Amino acid sequence: MKHSVLATLGLQLTAVVAHGAGHVGHNLVPVEIRAPTVEHFRDIVGNDTYDFGCRPIARPTDDGQFQLHALLTREQIAHINHEYRSTNELSIRESPLAKRAAAANAPIGSGDRFKAGTVTPVGLGTQASGTTIASIMNVAEISSAVNALVANAGVTSFTLPYKTFNGATQFAAYVGAGADTSKYHLYLSAGVHARERGGPDNLIYWVADLLAANKSGSGLTYGKKTYTNAQVKTVLAAGLVFFPLVNPDGVTYDQSSSSLWRKNRNTASGKSGSSIGVDINRNFDFLWNFKKYFSSSESPASTSPSSETFYGTAAASESETKNHVSIYDKFPKIRWFMDIHSAAGDILYSWGDDDNQSTNTAMNFLSATYDGKRGVTGDTAYKEYIPAADATAIKKVADATVAAMKGVGSRSYITQQAVGLYPTSGATDDYAFSRFWAKPGVNKVYGYTMEFGYSTNFYPTLAEFNTNILDTNAGFMDWALTAIGVGLE
Ligand SMILES: [Zn+2]
Repeated sequence: MKHSVLATLGLQLTAVVAHGAGHVGHNLVPVEIRAPTVEHFRDIVGNDTYDFGCRPIARPTDDGQFQLHALLTREQIAHINHEYRSTNELSIRESPLAKRAAAANAPIGSGDRFKAGTVTPVGLGTQASGTTIASIMNVAEISSAVNALVANAGVTSFTLPYKTFNGATQFAAYVGAGADTSKYHLYLSAGVHARERGGPDNLIYWVADLLAANKSGSGLTYGKKTYTNAQVKTVLAAGLVFFPLVNPDGVTYDQSSSSLWRKNRNTASGKSGSSIGVDINRNFDFLWNFKKYFSSSESPASTSPSSETFYGTAAASESETKNHVSIYDKFPKIRWFMDIHSAAGDILYSWGDDDNQSTNTAMNFLSATYDGKRGVTGDTAYKEYIPAADATAIKKVADATVAAMKGVGSRSYITQQAVGLYPTSGATDDYAFSRFWAKPGVNKVYGYTMEFGYSTNFYPTLAEFNTNILDTNAGFMDWALTAIGVGLE
């Protein structure tokens, strides 16, 4: 902690954390930290032993404050209370999630509902309102579901070049624009963070909906949002590439342990407990070596193997990362990318390393002049360059995605620049967008992160799991349709 900064801000924190049951049988407690400004969170989010989910995002509250969600141990909560005990401007309390019994979590499927790739998945958009799906797919079912779409619905799947640390063979798939891989412009991935349950399901059921509606000549309905058959055909014609389970080792472990596991399971840097694994979403080749590129005051990732944001041993050191990147080589005209995460209720758009600026082309992530200066939000020492037309385009698509998710009628979502409260390095979305400048000759890709669900609610109830399918699927529809309107070439 940086005591001088804390003293300047006069931070206050009241000890209102009760001793509840904790979240689903492990020692992390979901908490809500409140403060009058986002600046009040600056020191807390700099601590890389704390777990803020995908990224630390401060959301405005109805009463004009800001709220930051985290998963903390009792010891960490006590430490924060101690640090801030003499003040009352910052408060920490248990999230209502802390009281939820593990039995309330949506179950993981047992067996194989898709019968070894013979029974086609059926999404919610093609079924009667109120229909629900009874469980989250297990790892084998994710493969089986895609195999069924290959067998019965015209999808083509392919094996990715690198096996995971635990020996899993990875696959992705494509559909909609024929055999020419240069005709595919939309790319979605899910399951990067193991504990974010339902991500692969959201994606697979949406693809199943598109193909079923296309075949039957019908449209799609997600709550109060409806789409025509012509819109379904428009989305498919844009060419859809999907990588539904980026982190099978992590998901296998999380589903068997319910330990809120986030990273992969590589033991190269740590053999036991939390020291196992790399955060795939800090491992991509975008300002990966953050110690060099960012201000020393910022922690966009972590060099500590036991951190939830451990960046690995090199840029793209992980098989999952290399496989993810290989898809851009196979489909060279991908223009729009979405990485599906939870849980925060937002759509994040570029950039994630610093505030955006559209005036100084020389101030950019490739320039050594700015090494050591990046990542401090709200300052003028560095802001990341984005062409003005790109800034307008990415925001337009993000806003349309959120409008569709809200339009389902279940809950609210927000759009936010990915840097939010705090920068990140090596993330999927920034990597996607950075390729155009970092690798001469490659296509420009607009990158997004969707964080479905309520903050830190990584294990949804069955009702929430089904709501998430409806909300994300409507979001995917308007994301794709608006992106197509902006342009695919
Ligand atoms: Zn995530």
